[in-house]
Amino acid sequence: MSLRITDDCISCGACESECPVGAIFDGPDHTEIDPAKCVECKGHYDEPQCQGTCPSDAIVR
Ligand code: SF4
Ligand code: SF4
Repeated sequence: MSLRITDDCISCGACESECPVGAIFDGPDHTEIDPAKCVECKGHYDEPQCQGTCPSDAIVR
């Protein structure tokens, strides 16, 4: 499973450095999560780290 980033993203970049597996990257329209890499932070943190950093609530399940 993976979280995803909606069009509400303003590409602030805050989430990118929070990801323990490097799943977050600059997409063509806005920042994106690679679903093949995102592990929902399982094995690293109790909660998805990226979600808490987003000022636009653009990261959803
Ligand atoms: S939920 Fe965790 S693993 Fe998935 S993109 Fe966000 S920070 Fe990375
Ligand atoms: S923190 Fe939110 S607004 Fe900023 S780049 Fe990530 S998804 Fe986009």
